[in-house]
Amino acid sequence: MTQDGIGAMEIDTSKPHPARIYDYLLGGKDNYEVDRKAGDQLASVAPEVWISVRANRGFLQRAVRYVIESGVRQILDIGTGLPTSPNVHEIAQELAPDVRVAYVDNDPIVKAHGDALLSRAGSTSIVLADLRDPLSVIDHPEVRRVIDFGEPVALFLVAILHFIRDEEEPERIVATLRDALPAGSILVLSHATDDFADDRSEAQAVYNNATASMNLRPRARVEAFFDGFELVEPGVTQVPFWRPDATPPAGSEEIGFYGAVAVRK
Ligand code: SAH
Repeated sequence: MTQDGIGAMEIDTSKPHPARIYDYLLGGKDNYEVDRKAGDQLASVAPEVWISVRANRGFLQRAVRYVIESGVRQILDIGTGLPTSPNVHEIAQELAPDVRVAYVDNDPIVKAHGDALLSRAGSTSIVLADLRDPLSVIDHPEVRRVIDFGEPVALFLVAILHFIRDEEEPERIVATLRDALPAGSILVLSHATDDFADDRSEAQAVYNNATASMNLRPRARVEAFFDGFELVEPGVTQVPFWRPDATPPAGSEEIGFYGAVAVRK
C-alpha cells in the first residue's frame, strides 16, 4: 500500500471486512456491497445487532470520559474502526487538549481513512499493525513516539477481541499488552457474547467468509481478560448498563456485548 491515502489504495471488495460491516451497521458510508450483504444477514439472524453496535459505541464514549476524568493522558486504541464521529481522540482532546492517542488497526482501509482525518505531526497517530502480534504494536516506532510506557496508558480493546480465535490465544495477547503497562494504567474492553440469546451460531457463521472470524465468548472468558487489573464499578456488564448517562433503550437486555473498565494493579 502507498502512503498517499484512500484513492491510491487497492480496496478488497471480494470479502466482507469487520470494520466495514460495523461501519454499515452504524449507518456509515465507508462500506461496500459485500459488507452490506453481510450486515443484513447478521441482522436477519440477530436483529438486536443494530442497537448493539450503537450501545457499544456509547460505552466507548463514556469510557473515554472516564479515562480522562481519571487523569490518564495517553490512549492506545487497538481496533480503531472506520471514522465514526465522535472518535476517541475527539472526545478525549475536547476534555483535555494534551491527550495523546495512538490508533492501531490491521485493516489498510482504516489506516487510509485515519491518515486522511488526522494531522500527521500531531499528538494523534494511526498505525497499521496486528493485535495477534502484540509486541509489533507496542514496539512500533510510531506508537512509541506517541505513547510513553513509563506513564499510565489507557488501553482500548473495544469490540476487537472477538475477532481473535482461541488458537491465537487472546488471553496471552492481552497479558503481553498488560505487562507493558505501568500501574495506574486502564483497560477498556468490550466483547461480543451469546450469553443473552438462545443460539447465535448463524450470526457467527456470517463471518466465516469475512477477513476475520467471530468468536463469541461467555462471561467468564471475558472476565479472565482482566487478570492483573481491578475492575471499576459496575464490573463486567452488558455495554448499555456500564455507567449509563441516560436510561438504556428498550431491548438493552438482549444486547450481546459485555463491557468493562479496570485499573492495572
Ligand atoms: N473499537 C471500535 C471499532 C470496532 S470494529 C469501536 O468499538 O467502535 C473492530 C476493528 O478491529 C476493525 O476496525 C478491525 O479492522 C479491527 N481488527 C480486527 N482484527 C484485528 C487485528 N487482529 N489487529 C488489529 N485490528 C483488528
